[in-house]
Amino acid sequence: MAKSPRQHASWRVALTFDVEHADRPAHPDGTRLVLDTLAERDVVTTHFVQGRWAQAHPALAKELTRHGHLIGNHSHHHARMTWLSPQGLAGDVRLAEQTIRRITGHDPRPWFRCPFGDGTDDPAVLAALDRLGYQEVSWQVDALDWRTKATGPQVARTVIEQATAHGDGAVVLFHPWTLATGRAMPLVIDGLRAAGARFVRLDELG
Ligand SMILES: [Zn+2]
Repeated sequence: MAKSPRQHASWRVALTFDVEHADRPAHPDGTRLVLDTLAERDVVTTHFVQGRWAQAHPALAKELTRHGHLIGNHSHHHARMTWLSPQGLAGDVRLAEQTIRRITGHDPRPWFRCPFGDGTDDPAVLAALDRLGYQEVSWQVDALDWRTKATGPQVARTVIEQATAHGDGAVVLFHPWTLATGRAMPLVIDGLRAAGARFVRLDELG
């Protein structure tokens, strides 16, 4: 049954970004475009930062924490968590944590996102993360912005349709290193706001 506009009033959407070294050539302006659009439209989000990426882009990494965005941990080497030994997993997560803290001044705990979504249903991985002080955060809506031929309008359409279908509490996954993501961002924000959504950080989802 279709929801009336009244039922849609002020439902929450958490836009989340995996901020990482791209697995194909990244557009140099991608992350910048995303950050500028979020600032212009006064939207708070959550950034899962790869430690090794923060090391390579310290100025941009510092900027991720401005404008009230929440910082999470996206591992250091972006390896599959299920492929690591318990010691390897702990070492990688802690190294990312120390790197993110040193560069941004923010502790990413307790927010963690597994690279490739690998390990999100593995009790051993989740228990290891828990021991390190983390909870794993997956997503319900994949923007599919990582696809080679993704375009801004296409990404925006996918996100608006799926987040609206999910309703309150939708967590959306983006990758800021593609130009499609930057181009989609104004359309996503305006489109979801028109549908009654408000943007929250993961710590506001409760
Ligand atoms: Zn990733």
